[in-house]
Amino acid sequence: MAEIFDIEKIREQYPILQRTVSGKPLIYLDNAATSQVPRCVVEGIEQMYYTTKANVHRGVHTLSQEATDMVELTREKVRAFLNAASTREIIFTRGTTEAINLVAHSYGDRFVDGDEIILTVMEHHANIVPWQLLQRNKRLKIVVVPINQAGELDIAAYEALFSSRTRFVSVAHASNVLGTVNPVKQIIDIAHSHGVPVLVDGAQATAHMAVDVQALDADFYAFSAHKMYGPSGVGVLYGKEALLADMPPYQGGGEMIGNVSFEGTTFAELPFKFEAGTPDFVDIAAFSRTLDYLQMLGIENIAAHEQTLLEAATAGLQQIPGLTIYGTAAHKHSVLSFLVDGASSYDIGILLDKLGVAVRTGHHCAQPLMRRLGIEGTVRASFAVYNTMHEVEQFIAATARVAKMFARK
Ligand code: PLP
Repeated sequence: MAEIFDIEKIREQYPILQRTVSGKPLIYLDNAATSQVPRCVVEGIEQMYYTTKANVHRGVHTLSQEATDMVELTREKVRAFLNAASTREIIFTRGTTEAINLVAHSYGDRFVDGDEIILTVMEHHANIVPWQLLQRNKRLKIVVVPINQAGELDIAAYEALFSSRTRFVSVAHASNVLGTVNPVKQIIDIAHSHGVPVLVDGAQATAHMAVDVQALDADFYAFSAHKMYGPSGVGVLYGKEALLADMPPYQGGGEMIGNVSFEGTTFAELPFKFEAGTPDFVDIAAFSRTLDYLQMLGIENIAAHEQTLLEAATAGLQQIPGLTIYGTAAHKHSVLSFLVDGASSYDIGILLDKLGVAVRTGHHCAQPLMRRLGIEGTVRASFAVYNTMHEVEQFIAATARVAKMFARK
C-alpha cells in the first residue's frame, strides 16, 4: 500500500525516536498521553530563549514587543486552526484541565442549588472533578450519559437526561480510553434545542481531526498543545465571545486588569480578562510552529495514516488468544485499549517496556469508565504521525509474546 507520507523524513524531525529502551529501539505508542515534538518546534523554543525572551503585553522595548507579537501571532493561528470568529475567543491556559476548570468556575458561578450538569461516563477526570468542585458550595446534580457495549454514547439516553434544570453539557470529543469519536455536532444541537451550552473537551481530538468550532456551534472547546506535537504547558480555551464577555474572571492578577485600586478593580477586555499573570509565552510562541507543521502535513493525511495503523493493530491483536479489546465503536481515532487474560495492565506494560514498546497502563484518569467496564485498567497503545507499520508489527509480535507467557501460567 502506498504510504501517505515519507515516514522516514518525518521521523528525522524527532531525535527522541532514535533512542533505545531496554537495549531495544524505542517504539513510542503513548501518544494519547503526550506526543513527541518535532525539531522545528524545539527550535522555536530555542530561538525565543536565545533572541526574544522578554515579558509580554507590557513593555515598550523592542524585545517585549517582538515577544508580544509572537504570542499574538499564535493566537491568530489558533483562531484559524479552530475557525473561531475572533482572537478574542482564544484564551491561553496551561492545558485542557485548566481550560475546563476556568469554565466550570467562571460560567458555573451562575449555577444555583438544584441545577443539573450533563457529563458522560467516558469523561477524563479533568472533565469530571472541576464540576464536582462546584458541588462544595451548591447542591448541583451531575447526570451521566451511558455507553453501549461498543463504547458509543447512548444518544437516546442523553436526550432523555434533559430537564428544566439542565444548565450545562460537557463532553469529550474523543475518548482517551476507548478511542470513540463522539457525535459532538449532534450532541451540541440537542443541547441547544434545550437552550443549554456545551463544552467540548478536545484533548484527544485536535491532533487527529479537523475542528471547526463554528460548524460545530460549540460554546466552549478546550485542548492541550502537548498532545498535538506542541510544547508542554500550553492549552487553549475557545469560548463564544458573547458567553466569555458575560463571565467573571477566573483568576486575578496582572495582565487581566483594566484599572486597579483598593476601592475596586476593572477588568481587561477579552481575551486578557482570563489570562492572569505572565503566560507561558515561550511555549505559546513556539506553538505557532506546531500549527504550521500540522497544516503542512495536513490533518486529514495524519488521520488517514493513523487509521491505517489502527486497523492493522486492531486486526493483529484480535488474533492473539486471550486478548480483549475495549472500545469497538464504528468511529474511532488512533487509540487501542486491551487486556490479556490472567495479566494486569501493569504486567503487560512492564513487559512491553522491556521489549522497547512504550504503552500506557491503568485507569487513564477515567475511573468511572473503568467501573462501567468492570475492570481496573487497560493497556493503551495510541498512534501518531511518526509511527510506522513496521512498529505496529513489532508491537503486535511483542504483545503476542507477552500474552503467551500468561497463557502458560
Ligand atoms: N481530557 C482528555 C480526554 C484527556 O485525554 C486528557 C489528558 O490525557 C485531558 C483532558 C487532560 O489534559 P491535560 O492534562 O493536558 O490538561
